[in-house]
Amino acid sequence: MDEVGPRGVSILGATGSIGASTLDVIARHPDDFRVVALTAHRNVTGLAALCAQYRPQLAVIGDPAHESELRSALREANVPTRVHSGVPGLLEAARCEGAAIVVAAIVGAAGLVPTIAAARAGKRLLLANKEAIVCAGMLLLDAVRVGGATLLPLDSEHNAIHQCLAGARSRGSVRRLILTASGGPFRTRQDFSTVTPEQACAHPNWQMGRKISVDSATLMNKGLEVIEASWLFGFVRNQIDVVVHPQSVVHSMVEFDDGSVLAQMGTPDMRTPIAYALGYPDRIESGSERLDFLRLSALTFEAPDLTRFPCLGLAYHALESGPAASIVLNASNEMAVEAFLERRLAFTDIARVISQTLDAIAPAVPQSVEDVLGIDSLARAHARGLIGQSAVAGKPADR
Ligand code: NAD
Ligand code: MG
Repeated sequence: MDEVGPRGVSILGATGSIGASTLDVIARHPDDFRVVALTAHRNVTGLAALCAQYRPQLAVIGDPAHESELRSALREANVPTRVHSGVPGLLEAARCEGAAIVVAAIVGAAGLVPTIAAARAGKRLLLANKEAIVCAGMLLLDAVRVGGATLLPLDSEHNAIHQCLAGARSRGSVRRLILTASGGPFRTRQDFSTVTPEQACAHPNWQMGRKISVDSATLMNKGLEVIEASWLFGFVRNQIDVVVHPQSVVHSMVEFDDGSVLAQMGTPDMRTPIAYALGYPDRIESGSERLDFLRLSALTFEAPDLTRFPCLGLAYHALESGPAASIVLNASNEMAVEAFLERRLAFTDIARVISQTLDAIAPAVPQSVEDVLGIDSLARAHARGLIGQSAVAGKPADR
């Protein structure tokens, strides 16, 4: 590291899967990074344990109803960390003066406002919260520019593309981006009528939070990533291809005009992209297992099946329809996935709820974060109604 002394890191969504991987990498580099702020939604026990271990200046619990519980847990454990809550608390963690680096690892559109605040505050912004850029791509990029922030993607595909583009003198020399997808737990499954949340969350290659695991099972995750890639790298829909690559060794690729294709590879472990973004432009130890080519039996690639996985097609459609449609897509997906995880909706109805919400709502292009939040609420209300009707109709079969 060039800087003198450790750089402060604030982690929004510290108790989640990305939060844990980030803290694991940081713990390997105590001279380079120090944790200054941690946030969680409702997981008081998890957040208090992290505070006892990392001793940040600030701990924020997103749901204000849990603030006093967190305060007493820290007092009892003799941890001097200051406590805050709600959106004002999340904003404080995002803007925290001692933090040069902010990790945006909240799941869902709930992460949008603090992520934009970190960009406006000029932080090095490590973006895992793909829903934020899907909902407000232009506004987030504006905030990064105006705030003088540095945006580095943590999503393994986008992190791979960032690495593959490192030597490109201009984007004009790039023919296309190729995002790889594992295909999820149902890559070869034909009948989805009895899918349970446990089956959907059992991802073959990655350990992740429940929402993104379901998104991986429907391929909506790849759809959100196509939209994410279009904003991050400035490419249109037909320059972004998806290939299913079940081994999850090639994390994504870039094809150049001369026919060269650069791929970034590694074992499927989020600590690799996190270490890349924390250390950038240096390379630092991540703790991930090394790739052993002699133990790889094969690297295979196949086309995604848009008939069995309609969510990917819905995301392509939203991207082509403009920024408001992406907000509707994301909000209705969040509602449908939550209902599926709570066994109020069948797996096969997730795509139907999204498709019908996209058909029903056609808002104007959002000009502000308030506009984005307004469209998000509208779409959630519509999706909620559709989900309610599905439940009344006696679905799903596995309830
Ligand atoms: P997770 O569910 O494991 O963790 C989510 C974190 O956000 C938790 O700390 C939780 O307390 C917090 N949170 C949840 N709802 C909140 C709310 N309403 N307000 C404030 N905080 C809230 O999720 P994850 O798997 O770590 O994913 C986080 C983000 O990173 C998602 O956007 C996901 O798509 C993205 N991502 C994850 C992975 C992965 O391997 N897990 C890979 C690529 C991208
Ligand atoms: Mg990804």
